[in-house]
Amino acid sequence: MSEIAEEMRLRPDRGEVATYIPELARADRRAFGIAVIGADGQLAAAGDSETPFSVQSITKVFTLTLALGKIGDRLWKRVGREPSGNPFNSIVQLELEKGVPRNPFINAGAIAVTDAILSGHEPREALGEILRFLQFLAEDSSIAIDEAVAASEKRTGFRNVALANFMKSYGVLDNPVDYTLGVYFHHCAVAMSCRQLAMAGRYLAHSGRNPTTGLLVISPERARRINAIMLTCGHYDGSGDFAYRVGLPGKSGVGGGILAVAPGKASIAVWSPGLDAAGNSHLGRISLEMLTKRMGWSIFGE
Ligand code: GLN
Repeated sequence: MSEIAEEMRLRPDRGEVATYIPELARADRRAFGIAVIGADGQLAAAGDSETPFSVQSITKVFTLTLALGKIGDRLWKRVGREPSGNPFNSIVQLELEKGVPRNPFINAGAIAVTDAILSGHEPREALGEILRFLQFLAEDSSIAIDEAVAASEKRTGFRNVALANFMKSYGVLDNPVDYTLGVYFHHCAVAMSCRQLAMAGRYLAHSGRNPTTGLLVISPERARRINAIMLTCGHYDGSGDFAYRVGLPGKSGVGGGILAVAPGKASIAVWSPGLDAAGNSHLGRISLEMLTKRMGWSIFGE
């Protein structure tokens, strides 16, 4: 990990920090962190692995897990499971597919998933449920929402407002649009460190179990399926390239984080705020490529 972090620290190519959410533009382009938690619970980490950053779309993995727990396969009536081949905030397919988003990891899909979690609750309760789930998974009650990021996104999130209204017009959302978006903006604004994120992802690497306690968080079948969607859709229209280069299920966020899962082996989180053209962490992807190559962890073979 130290070797990878050192190499990443020296690289001149770092990608561009997201600026469409003004608060995210404040991130330090020089930051890089990596944390890996193996099957034995051991942590290997380097760089800025303890610095909290805005996890953004990475929470889409955890909200998908919660929504499937709440309404099971009925969720697939309002969101698909196919890669979109379009940017994360694209609206084009929504009209062709009657307001049903292509998958739960693009913005439209995650808004539909958030709406499913919200039904029957007040927005504050739904948000509390999401936050408590992350704290439970990471075994860390200090995980919190960065209110400045949430407010910044709420002020500028016109595209997400459009996506939500479009879906609402087709009856895909059950709750008032501003309630659903309020919960969505806030869960995107959760701040976590690489170590906390790797902790939270352990159940996906170990067939739905916490590998340390052996307790089941979700069924092995559900964990396998969430990993499949992470592999095919976790990096938007960069998902094919991520599978080709890294070879692991992974989910990125515009804060520059990536959660990756080496089934049976490790839960991995990397962070570097500079993004590539598809909105995925540039050095995050490169560092994961180095890691999986050295460890022989690609799910497609050595
Ligand atoms: N909160 C961000 C948005 O809705 C999440 C996008 C992302 O991380 N790709 O635009």
